[in-house]
Amino acid sequence: MNKTKQIVQKSLDALMTDNTFIPELTGTTREQAFTSLASILSTPNHVHKSFLRIPLENGQVVRIPAYRVQHNNALGPYKGGIRFHETVNEDEVINLASLMTLKNALHDVPFGGGKGGLVINPRTLSEKELHLICKKYVRYFADSLGPDKDIPAPDVGSGEREMDWMMAEYKSIRPGTPYRGSFTGKSVINGGSLGRREATGKGVYFTFRYLFHDFPQSQKNLLTTTDSIFANAVTKFENKPMKLAVQGFGNVGSVAALEAYECSYLQNKVVAVSDRNVTLFNEDGLNIPALVKFTKGNKGDLPVSDEELTIAGVKADILDREAILYLDVDGLILAALEDQIRTDNMEQIKAPIIVEGANAPITSDADDFLSKKGVLIIPDILANAGGVIVSYLEWLQGRETQFYSEEQVFSQLFKKMTGTLDSILPAFFGDTFTLRQNCYIHSVMRLSTVLYRQGKLY
Ligand code: NAD
Repeated sequence: MNKTKQIVQKSLDALMTDNTFIPELTGTTREQAFTSLASILSTPNHVHKSFLRIPLENGQVVRIPAYRVQHNNALGPYKGGIRFHETVNEDEVINLASLMTLKNALHDVPFGGGKGGLVINPRTLSEKELHLICKKYVRYFADSLGPDKDIPAPDVGSGEREMDWMMAEYKSIRPGTPYRGSFTGKSVINGGSLGRREATGKGVYFTFRYLFHDFPQSQKNLLTTTDSIFANAVTKFENKPMKLAVQGFGNVGSVAALEAYECSYLQNKVVAVSDRNVTLFNEDGLNIPALVKFTKGNKGDLPVSDEELTIAGVKADILDREAILYLDVDGLILAALEDQIRTDNMEQIKAPIIVEGANAPITSDADDFLSKKGVLIIPDILANAGGVIVSYLEWLQGRETQFYSEEQVFSQLFKKMTGTLDSILPAFFGDTFTLRQNCYIHSVMRLSTVLYRQGKLY
């Protein structure tokens, strides 16, 4: 059983014995309903798979495995990104789709969970080839997609250019029907939302900051009397400068690092950042704006040599790619890929606080080990929902053809995330469950109630 399924099952076990949860269900009817819930929440509704036939520019024809998984749509149309990466596989896409169902439920976003994937390394393909792949993806899965059915967005390796191409293809396949809400994460000129690109990274840092700065004072007083992982971490670091490291310097990581650098409340220092090639380290803090500027002109990659550091105007030691994980820092933000902390390296982790900007960057065993050790893990479904929340705003703006200012977008984003944090954090005081488990219980409660009221459990 994978990590998501395990935590969903634990949430159901906790809710089964909580008689205040759907009290109408009792005895064997309750048992049957919970068995139905376990089966519904652990299985995707649909797994679409195709092999796209793509003639490359060198004349060779290749078949590219492509997936669209629709996990659950009890709360609204399926929603989730399309990953462009050579390691994409069916189990990974299914797991990421189920995470989307839970994430949307947690943050009360009226979407279900979906995910897509293409087994390609986009760096090795020309723009023309990528354009054709995007068009074919839409053509192959057109019957399953649409603004009220399933709405893809970017993920690792894809961005607004790909979403623009895909929306355009959808529009030609379905002439005369609404198309703006068929894809989110588009460029602003094509109906994208201001602030979408920054939304996930901003939300990741906002969640972290909220815990250590903005959490209401009355509740903080309560925390200081509670001996728990959360209370201890908040008391130790509240309003104190922290040393942070950020793994991954793409869409999520670079924005989270910049937010931390610019955050006037906490005076944090970002002492390390990393990407697919290197870790950069400076005990006194890195010049993040200079690194952001450099990566923009360098296909997203950080400087890898002293010469490139000089060009970037950044002082740093160059360490190997994995070094970032083992640094003696206060907070480690994981914003690259999944399975970065596993049983083979979990004992080397020194950071007392870990924020999951990426999806599933810590394996199940490592998660248990670190939580038992007292590490505060701020989980993916809580911290990295900024993208899907602003995607929802983009979808709404597309329907209304009324567009919000960047200020309005961020204000709505932070309001939504604050609402979730305020409903989750009090339950976490006593540490009966980890923060991740608390989030899952909240999501599973919402999904279960909706499914029960829709008559789907018998
Ligand atoms: P991205 O492609 O923009 O950036 C990924 C970064 O990770 C790059 O800097 C890359 O060099 C680096 N990287 C790749 N392999 C690495 C490795 N082995 N070690 C260290 N760094 C490595 O992707 P992104 O959009 O920033 O997404 C990052 C993560 O966040 C993914 O797990 C994604 O699913 C998740 N996420 C993204 C969004 C979003 O809105 N973009 C929303 C929710 C979750």
